[in-house]
Amino acid sequence: MTETFTPPTRFAVPGRIEVSAQAATSWQTATITEIRPETPRAATVRLAVPVWAGHVPGQHLMLRLTAEDGYAAQRHYSIASAPDDSGHIELTLDHVAGGEVSGWFHTVARPGDRVEVRGPLSGFFAWPGDRPALLIGAGSGVVPLMSMVRHHRARGLDVPLRLLVSARSPEELIYAREYGAETTPVFTRSAPTGLPVGRMSAAHVAPLLAERPPGGWEAYVCGSNGFAEHASRLLVAAGQPVDRIRIERFG
Ligand SMILES: Cc1cc2nc3c(=O)[nH]c(=O)nc-3n(C[C@H](O)[C@H](O)[C@H](O)COP(=O)(O)OP(=O)(O)OC[C@H]3O[C@@H](n4cnc5c(N)ncnc54)[C@H](O)[C@@H]3O)c2cc1C
Repeated sequence: MTETFTPPTRFAVPGRIEVSAQAATSWQTATITEIRPETPRAATVRLAVPVWAGHVPGQHLMLRLTAEDGYAAQRHYSIASAPDDSGHIELTLDHVAGGEVSGWFHTVARPGDRVEVRGPLSGFFAWPGDRPALLIGAGSGVVPLMSMVRHHRARGLDVPLRLLVSARSPEELIYAREYGAETTPVFTRSAPTGLPVGRMSAAHVAPLLAERPPGGWEAYVCGSNGFAEHASRLLVAAGQPVDRIRIERFG
């Protein structure tokens, strides 16, 4: 016998975030209200979305661009902003060389332009703020993790949260000005004076796991395929249960 799962139409999560399943299944037109640079290769795009029903930090959306001849390209983008009721959301896009959609945002898009969005999507990588969170990201993989950090701050949550973020250089560290005591940056090609240069290693991960908060960490890993594999191996080697590692791959 085949059983079908019908999701509830609304999910309630701590912090009074509610997500409408109906809004997630239909396309709607969003207007770009701001584009601001984060690094030489990454920019944040602020969108006004007419009926955005709210998201849980960590979720993403589907974005669609349609050309005049009807050709359409759609891509997934994580939501960078914390959930709020402003009717706006923010995305942060890396400029991928030769990239159709990221290229358009970085070289053509202007405030006032319209795009289509559908979401929020995916409950698996979502963190409602209900358990200790150990966040590990590289490059633009920090985007959904930043939504979690912002949510943690905006709601004044006291559940432990730590962020390990890897970037090639200080110039390429997305959201560099926003990090606080919860964050440890790791630089792989060049680092500010006094900080080492090198890949994320057991020396970064093990001390965080040693903190052992009540209930244990839920780990969230985001980045390229290669980075996700590397970071999850480090977590497992340091004792993190495999079933408490959630991975989002951008590759
Ligand atoms: C769940 C999810 C969430 C995502 N969130 C974000 C986000 O928050 N910010 C963000 O910048 N991206 C994010 N991505 C990646 C994004 O969906 C696109 O893949 C990316 O923007 C490239 O699309 P494009 O149209 O510019 O490039 P395309 O035209 O699709 O590709 C151009 C060339 O670049 C290569 N390429 C494609 N994607 C990548 C990549 N990510 N890195 C390196 N090379 C690539 C392709 O193989 C191709 O050779 C996410 C992906 C997933 C699956």
